[in-house]
Amino acid sequence: MHQSLPSLSIIYINVHNHCTKQANQLKKYKKKMAVIPKLKLGGMEKAMPVIGMGTASFPMADLETTKAAVLEAIKAGYRHFDTAFAYGSETALGEAVAEALRLGLIDSRSDLFITTKLWASFTDPSQIVPACKMSLQNLKVEYVDMYLIHWPVRLTEMVRKTPVPVEIVKPLDIKGAWKGMEECVNLGLTKAIGVSNFSIKTLDHLLSTAKIPPTLNQVEMNPYWQQKKLREFCKERGVHVTAYSPLGANNTKWGDDRILGNEVLADIAKAMGKTTAQVALRWVYEQGVSIASKSFNKERMTQNLQIFDWCLSDQDLENISQLPQAKGVTLASILGPHPLVLEIDADL
Ligand code: NAP
Repeated sequence: MHQSLPSLSIIYINVHNHCTKQANQLKKYKKKMAVIPKLKLGGMEKAMPVIGMGTASFPMADLETTKAAVLEAIKAGYRHFDTAFAYGSETALGEAVAEALRLGLIDSRSDLFITTKLWASFTDPSQIVPACKMSLQNLKVEYVDMYLIHWPVRLTEMVRKTPVPVEIVKPLDIKGAWKGMEECVNLGLTKAIGVSNFSIKTLDHLLSTAKIPPTLNQVEMNPYWQQKKLREFCKERGVHVTAYSPLGANNTKWGDDRILGNEVLADIAKAMGKTTAQVALRWVYEQGVSIASKSFNKERMTQNLQIFDWCLSDQDLENISQLPQAKGVTLASILGPHPLVLEIDADL
């Protein structure tokens, strides 16, 4: 049977209908998108959205799952993404950004704030610029907004699995590593640099040698690990704090349900018609700290953005401040219980 070709006008109507549908869908997303407050951090032109979508998943999600989650997050209003070489999520994030641009969900790369991190195997000063370039290649972007030293430790080898042998775990050359980070700024590979998992002692050491001061310190923080001393120190020294695992990293190897299963938080949530997760995130936000939280679930990632138009009462804050404190994330759970690793954990 011979099939006739559609006429030009039919093709035009189909393309037109498709475009109109796409434009209407875009309008719908944009209308429903949450408005996220932004923070102007020292020396940075672009403001950072106070909540970023984390991309560390357990077990590690495949590329398509992570990419789809990032696209959903962009539709929900997330404009800040937190990745790391070690999470294996840079490539998926890069593909999602390219797809978001293609679909018109964002107008340009500069609409996004992208954070990535230098893994411990590349902290020798000579490896830092190449490691940053490798992350940019994975992400398919020309620059990141924030580049962080992931942990204050050096591994003398690239590792594919953890825990790692004790002989490859060495102290970080803070001065040398920071020079490498500063070089990344000077070369335009990143707009700003910072650290992660730095204790008061390590940060103090870094501040005494840095030409470009670290913009922020990303650490575990939630109602069960409130980081009061570290936050005070950071405030005094002009270093912003970002909280990771604000929900206690439930259902991951490095977390548990002590936040989402906590009765004090659940009671506050019930009284306010919120969820326990929202109460935990709101508490972090009210401490003047920015947030990296992860959800690859459409409903939960949207729910996690609905924390900006209500507040906790003084009594709620008092009750939360009384919660017993215990650190959840440890480097020993990743690298193994080696003496230097245990020292880093004890300081944090
Ligand atoms: P998190 O954000 O505290 O918790 C993530 C877990 O909570 C996931 O299992 C997620 O599951 C679940 N969840 C999210 N929203 C929820 C809600 N509304 N209700 C119930 N469950 C919810 O933990 P995290 O992933 O450890 O931390 C966030 C990000 O911080 C990471 O992804 C990573 O980017 C960064 N991070 C950095 C470091 C560092 O060393 N710098 C360490 C850890 C994490 P679903 O996805 O199924 O919703």
